[in-house]
Amino acid sequence: MSRASRPHLPMRPLWRCRRCGAEWPCQPARLALLVEYRADRTALLIYLSTLMAEAGEQLSQLNGHAAPERLTERFLSWARAR
Ligand SMILES: [Zn+2]
Repeated sequence: MSRASRPHLPMRPLWRCRRCGAEWPCQPARLALLVEYRADRTALLIYLSTLMAEAGEQLSQLNGHAAPERLTERFLSWARAR
């Protein structure tokens, strides 16, 4: 698989990007999601809420201190319509 085609997807249960290693959703992942869901921001927010719940569960099992307010910032705040 070429480097360019490797998508920025989360690595569970760490929720880091498989490609760039940043906390997911990393910047390229956010851009890709905004493009993919450009016609339906509500669907994007629902999708991200689902992932946020999953991430919150897995991260708190890993380290016991997944801060919910930080997860909201990380998963949802950037995607809300301005
Ligand atoms: Zn990435």
